[in-house]
Amino acid sequence: MKIKNFKDLIKEVHEPGICQQCGGCVSFCNSIEHDVISMKDPNSPPKYINEDKCLECGICYLLCPQTHILDGDLKKTYNFTSFSSMPFGFIDNIYSCQATDKDFLKIGTDGGVVNSIINYLLEKKVIDGAIVAKTKTAFSREATIARNKKDLIEASGLKLDLSPQLNELQKFHTYTSSLPQLRDYKFKRLAVVGTPCQIYTIRCMQSLGIIPSENIELCLGLFCYENFFFDKLRIEKFEKEFNLKFENVERINIKEDLIIKLKNRGATQKIIHIPFESINDYMRQACLACSDFTSIYADISFGGLGSTDKFTTVITRTKKGIDIIRKVINAGVIKSFRLEVTSKEKMKEKISQFCQLKMERFENFMKNKLITWKSPPLALEIDDD
Ligand SMILES: Cc1cc2nc3c(=O)[nH]c(=O)nc-3n(C[C@H](O)[C@H](O)[C@H](O)COP(=O)(O)OP(=O)(O)OC[C@H]3O[C@@H](n4cnc5c(N)ncnc54)[C@H](O)[C@@H]3O)c2cc1C
Ligand code: SF4
Ligand code: SF4
Ligand code: SF4
Repeated sequence: MKIKNFKDLIKEVHEPGICQQCGGCVSFCNSIEHDVISMKDPNSPPKYINEDKCLECGICYLLCPQTHILDGDLKKTYNFTSFSSMPFGFIDNIYSCQATDKDFLKIGTDGGVVNSIINYLLEKKVIDGAIVAKTKTAFSREATIARNKKDLIEASGLKLDLSPQLNELQKFHTYTSSLPQLRDYKFKRLAVVGTPCQIYTIRCMQSLGIIPSENIELCLGLFCYENFFFDKLRIEKFEKEFNLKFENVERINIKEDLIIKLKNRGATQKIIHIPFESINDYMRQACLACSDFTSIYADISFGGLGSTDKFTTVITRTKKGIDIIRKVINAGVIKSFRLEVTSKEKMKEKISQFCQLKMERFENFMKNKLITWKSPPLALEIDDD
């Protein structure tokens, strides 16, 4: 039987527009052989740069989140006892938490919990570094390694040549090259923060036992209903459509919808809620072909949905994740809001509803693939060299 390889990914994943740009194929391939495939433009699928060097080994095909070849193995490894565990994954416990460190709370998207945990693990030398994301320039983010609190704060901080409003928007903007970045940190013990598609790919690599996944100690997965793509044109369109000016935006969060907090006018603060279905023009098409909302293969998953403002919803899934959450709560690094059993059930129900919605959107999209969806043209020029 012919082993499927990168050419098949082009045909089955890139051409139908469902490449999630997780970067997994590039990460693995470039670990073994430089310059076969590359992902210079983070807004397009990877490309062959030296097709004749391709070994046709097929690993890129196996680990791609859109081929689903390893789903069965992963479900077994991550305790999915039956199909009913999908689309929520295995849950040990659910918490609503907040950082006790004022700096992490202040810069946190929600409760500053992810950064607080990473900082604790760095201080205790459980990890050597964490791959996180930072704003690079307008409309682009990049992965970076954080080795201490200063790095974490710098990565989350404002980029001085960009407006604070654009920095806010970019928290949820497009793909971050975390996986290709991994290969630069071989032999280090790493934590990786990622969206569900990125975590899935890492788990596939670990399941295959391939580099550069062997040095990943911990997968910290974010909830993700969809990822956005904003450029100059889309920002103008968005402002018109939703009757707001980005210069007046103070904070942006995503929970069960997009939440935009405008700057205080007198004593009142205006908060605008925009449902996901109203912002299809600003999302990436590949996200429609994604069924995982809560990072089901992470050690610990984090999101805003289910918690009040400035708290993070935390789901523990693996033994490693359970131990770490216990330790950070006991050490006072994060505080856990005391939840009654009924509140936990309500949180789970709400999250489960969104998992279901995302799964249904995925199934519908795959049935009618590419018939109706069309992205507006880009204003941003990207060098292709
Ligand atoms: C694209 C995207 C979509 C999301 N969608 C939802 C949603 O629909 N519903 C919901 O409830 N929550 C969603 N979230 C999660 C939510 O916005 C918060 O990230 C989460 O609650 C953790 O908040 P925190 O304050 O504890 O994290 P913080 O303490 O602020 O730490 C977040 C850390 O994650 C890193 N990071 C952020 N994005 C990336 C990335 N793409 N790759 C690598 N590192 C990254 C940051 O650099 C930082 O170190 C989404 C997040 C992202 C990035
Ligand atoms: S060498 Fe292997 S991993 Fe790299 S592109 Fe070719 S088939 Fe994919
Ligand atoms: S592994 Fe990721 S980047 Fe590569 S083709 Fe698949 S979805 Fe796209
Ligand atoms: S919805 Fe989120 S996890 Fe899914 S492909 Fe888009 S960015 Fe990745």
